[in-house]
Amino acid sequence: MTMKIKKARGTRDFLPEEMWLRDFVEKKIIEVFETFGYRKIMIPTFEHSTLFKIKSGEEILEHMYTFKDKGGRELCLRPEATASVCRMFAEEMRGEKKPLRLYYSCPMFRYEEPQRGRYREFWQIGIELIGPKNEYSDAEVISLASLALKNLGITHKLEINHIGILRNLLRDLGVDQKLQSRIMTLIDKKDPSLEDFLKKNVKKDWEKILELIQLRGEKEILARATELLSDHKSCLLSIEELKRILDILDYIEIEYEVDMSIARGLEYYTGMVFEIKAEELGSQSQICGGGRYDSLIEILCNEKVPAVGFAFGFDRVVEVVKLKGLNFPEKRLDILVVPVSEEERKDAIKLVNSLRNNFIGKLSVTLELMNRSLRKALEYANSIKARYVIIVGKRDLENGKVTIKNMDLGKEEKINLEEITNFFKEA
Ligand code: AMP
Repeated sequence: MTMKIKKARGTRDFLPEEMWLRDFVEKKIIEVFETFGYRKIMIPTFEHSTLFKIKSGEEILEHMYTFKDKGGRELCLRPEATASVCRMFAEEMRGEKKPLRLYYSCPMFRYEEPQRGRYREFWQIGIELIGPKNEYSDAEVISLASLALKNLGITHKLEINHIGILRNLLRDLGVDQKLQSRIMTLIDKKDPSLEDFLKKNVKKDWEKILELIQLRGEKEILARATELLSDHKSCLLSIEELKRILDILDYIEIEYEVDMSIARGLEYYTGMVFEIKAEELGSQSQICGGGRYDSLIEILCNEKVPAVGFAFGFDRVVEVVKLKGLNFPEKRLDILVVPVSEEERKDAIKLVNSLRNNFIGKLSVTLELMNRSLRKALEYANSIKARYVIIVGKRDLENGKVTIKNMDLGKEEKINLEEITNFFKEA
C-alpha cells in the first residue's frame, strides 16, 4: 500500500539549488552583522505561550501555534524572536557587560493564510541591541539593516516613525491602553474602518489622529507634526527624539522617508520604529521591520534594560535576489572521477579518497556510482556542470597516469598520478 503524504500547508521543501542560494544570501547578511560586532545566538523552537501574551500583540496571538505537551504545559511554536531573546537575556545574560549585540537566524511559525511571500513556517534573520538608549544605537540598527541589503545589491525604501508620537497622542486624548492597541492595529493594517472606529471610540479631537498618520515625507514634515501636536508635550519629546535619529542618518548618508502611519503590529515598541520595503515584491513588499522596545525586558526581570532591534523577512529577501537576478556564484561539482570499467574502480576510489583528504573544504569530489559508461558519465558531468572529469582507464594506469578533462574548455590532458594534487592546487 502506498500513502501519498504532502507537506503541511504553508510549509516548503527547499531543494539543493534553493538552499545554495538561501545560504549565500544568509552569509551576505551575517557578514554585515558580524562587521558591526553582533554575535550569533539560538533560541528554542517552542516557548511557554505566556511569553508572547505579555506584549507581542493581538496580531501575533491570533496566529500562534499553541499546544499542550504531555505534562500539560501550554506551549507554542515561536512566532517571533524578540520576546524569546528578551527572555533569554533575563534568564541567562543579565550579568554580561552591555551593550549586548546579538543576532539570530531561524524559522518562525504563524498560522496565517498562505500566499506568495507569506508562509506558516518562514525564516527571520534579525538582531537585538540590548543596553543602550540613545539616538546612536537607533541609528546603528537602521544603518545595519540598510548595509546588509546594500551588500546584496537590493535597492530598498526605508520608512521611519516614532511610536511615542501616536501612543502619547492617543493617551492624551483619553484612549485607554487596550483601545490604543486596537487603534494601532487598524492603523498598521491601513484598515478602512479606522475613521468610523475613531469617531465612535475617541471622544475629542479624533481628527488629529487621522491628520497625523497622513504625514509622510522628508524630515521637514516633523515641523508639520510639531505644529499639529503643539498642545501635546510628550508627543513633542518623541518628535525631537526622532529628529535626533534622522540627523545621524543624514550624517552617514542613509536615505529614508518619515511615515507617521507606521504603527507596527507588535505591541512592545516604545520608540523609533521602521520598516523596509522592496518594490519588486508587490503586495508583500515589507522585507524588514523593527524598532525600540524599552519596557519588555523590565517585565521579564524587573530591571529596566532598553533595547532596539529588527528582523528581516528572510524568504522575501531571497525572493528579491531571485527576481532581480542579482549576482551570486553558481554551485558546481569540482571533480567527478570516472573509472572506465569495473577493473579500475579500486584505483578510482583510491584517487577520490586522496583528493578528498588533500582538499577538505576546498574542492568537491565524487565518484561515479551509477555504473555509467564513459560517454554517459561525461554527459552526466555536463548536465550537472562539473568542472573536471578524471577518467581512470587501464592503459593510462599502466603508465602511472590518468586523464583529466576540463569540462569548460573541453580540453583533455594526461597527468601523472603523483602530480594530481599539484595540478588542482594550481587550478
Ligand atoms: P514582524 O515580526 O511581523 O515585524 O515581521 C518581520 C518581517 O518578517 C516582515 O517584514 C516580513 O518580511 C516577514 N514576515 C512576517 N510574517 C511573515 C510570513 N507569514 N511569511 C513570510 N514572511 C513573513
